[in-house]
Amino acid sequence: MRLLTVLSFLVVTLLAAASPRIAAATGAPAVLSQEIAVSLDPPRHELRGESRIVFAPGSRAVRLRLAREARVASVRCGGRDLPFTFRSGAIDLELPPGEESVAVSYRASFNDQVSRHPAAGEDPSYGVNAAIGSEGTFLGGGAHWYPVPEQVPASRTITITAPAGIEAVTFGARLSRETSGGATRSKWQEARPVGGLSLCAGPYLVEERKAAGVTLYSYFYRDNAELAPRYLDAAAKYLTLYQELFGPYPFEKFAVVENFFPTGYGFPSFTLLGGSVIRLPFIVDTSLPHEIAHSWWGNGIDVDLSEGNWCEGLVTYLADYLLKERRSLAEAAEYRRQLLIDYASLVTPENEFPLTAFVSRNDPPSRAIGYGKAAMVFHMIRSRVGDEPFFAALKDLARQRMYRSATWSDLLRAFAQRSGKDLSDFRALIERKGGARLSLDDARSSQHGAAWQVVGEVRQASPYFAQGVPLRLETSAGALSRLIPVSARQATPFDVAAPGEPRRLLLDPDAEIFRILSPGEIPATVNSVKGAANLIGVVTRGCRTDRGSLRAFLASLSQGRAAIVDESELGPEQAAGHDLLFCGVPADASLLPAGAEPVPPGETGQPDSLRFTVLQRRAPAKGVVALFEPGSAAAAAQYGPKVTHYGKYGVLFFSGGTNRRKATAAAADAEVVVRFPVQAP
Ligand SMILES: [Zn+2]
Repeated sequence: MRLLTVLSFLVVTLLAAASPRIAAATGAPAVLSQEIAVSLDPPRHELRGESRIVFAPGSRAVRLRLAREARVASVRCGGRDLPFTFRSGAIDLELPPGEESVAVSYRASFNDQVSRHPAAGEDPSYGVNAAIGSEGTFLGGGAHWYPVPEQVPASRTITITAPAGIEAVTFGARLSRETSGGATRSKWQEARPVGGLSLCAGPYLVEERKAAGVTLYSYFYRDNAELAPRYLDAAAKYLTLYQELFGPYPFEKFAVVENFFPTGYGFPSFTLLGGSVIRLPFIVDTSLPHEIAHSWWGNGIDVDLSEGNWCEGLVTYLADYLLKERRSLAEAAEYRRQLLIDYASLVTPENEFPLTAFVSRNDPPSRAIGYGKAAMVFHMIRSRVGDEPFFAALKDLARQRMYRSATWSDLLRAFAQRSGKDLSDFRALIERKGGARLSLDDARSSQHGAAWQVVGEVRQASPYFAQGVPLRLETSAGALSRLIPVSARQATPFDVAAPGEPRRLLLDPDAEIFRILSPGEIPATVNSVKGAANLIGVVTRGCRTDRGSLRAFLASLSQGRAAIVDESELGPEQAAGHDLLFCGVPADASLLPAGAEPVPPGETGQPDSLRFTVLQRRAPAKGVVALFEPGSAAAAAQYGPKVTHYGKYGVLFFSGGTNRRKATAAAADAEVVVRFPVQAP
């Protein structure tokens, strides 16, 4: 089971859990097949079950896990009752010589209550491992709702019976589904069982179609049924994309199933989304592709946790990230920068751990490591080996390891084999905590005839990491990029020949590598304005709205008490001692942070537009300066209240009724940006 990304407008919650795979107990008898038949009784929160298990010839001592609250009616073999013990959730028995199969009859009730307040919002299960009820039924793989042998069976069929109209879904291909005699029945079969079974049931409306070579189903409650076509269309689109990238989809079907409590789970061959999650408009292009990618990475190929959980980082990279990259390279760079900002903002020496210690996300720092840092490692691997070998290696892995498990080492080996490149230096990033803390030092430009040269050092604070570090040099004759092989020591000198007069030198301006940003590299954002302790609103002559709407805008950023003055009234000391939010652009450019990126005028000025920009003052000056640029009072009223919802961004542009741009300003910190003095002409 994978728990997928569930997003709400204000809180981003990434949920994850390790698969409840059945440990392959060494020496436990192999299981040739298992048939499971359960009958659900929602009003009583109960099920009746029968399971027949066929073991490999010669098996004797057998153990089956079953929920400890269950009542075992009988264990039969060859038509006779067999002695057994049932203690602490384990049925133990001896197969008589020559017998290979047992049939277990049992009853069990499951009625976990949905916690309305999961502890600190970090319990992704909402307290429900198993519940049968009129609202809906969820039986998780870890709840042992059927007798679970110690080895995964080679094949498995499941028959589910419920009151008429209660449709059920579980792993495998749906062989049949029918309603008669007051009951709804369905039968499922797995050709390649991969772990503990989960089951859901409810008064679903079912839709189905065949697309991308896969049978697709939706099981939605009536209230959300109209959304089913959107989910099926999107599932078909992403299954097509991922089959091109990774090879054949590994399961018999893909179903999108609605859950009666607001989680997002991913299982082999279906995903289970809470009704409130399904209604969020972006889920279809965020959580859904993430979960579909897990079909290969995490569900089809299991994570061997001995070297840590790699699958969340890989899926974050191949879904959340890659889909952005396919839309725009600028969005992709922004996504990577945000991963680095999250890491630097959330991870501390106290909560930091290496990727080899990541099991599942249980709070924002562990997400920044296990999802964010790991995604950056995959980005660096792809940059090193190249696109074609990177995706070819993923296809190799899918072909070679499907229905088995894989470690970080298996992944590195696949990328190395496909590309013929040595990737052993990535082990440091995977096995060690943290990452490089990099800065530029002692950078100088000099002219030699018509040519220019820039020399300097890339410095790092301990602990040291060896890696290629991208530098970009902007010159009067255009920009050039260089990858500097930085070694695991304090200083690595570099020497770059420039085609024109150097203007700026930037270290890793597009967030291509995993590194720990310095505080000065973390950009000012809408949240910085909301948190500013002594903000003043300043009306410039270019302000295209009135004071009342500036007041309302400040209030929407929790700055309703801020003073508002005209630019002409603003004294230099007052300006220096306060955070400033200008309506319009100040006539006095010295009020903007020194070295601030020039604010392009092109997109502002249209009546139906609003731009909001937050700039960090450069050290030693402190605080932020923000520019509120509505094209009209109407635009201020329409778009102003939206700004507060974009807390982690520092550059926003709205027009045509919607957000057109959201970004953070590039690093302005002198430690990673060097500005060269412009020579007199
Ligand atoms: Zn995931």
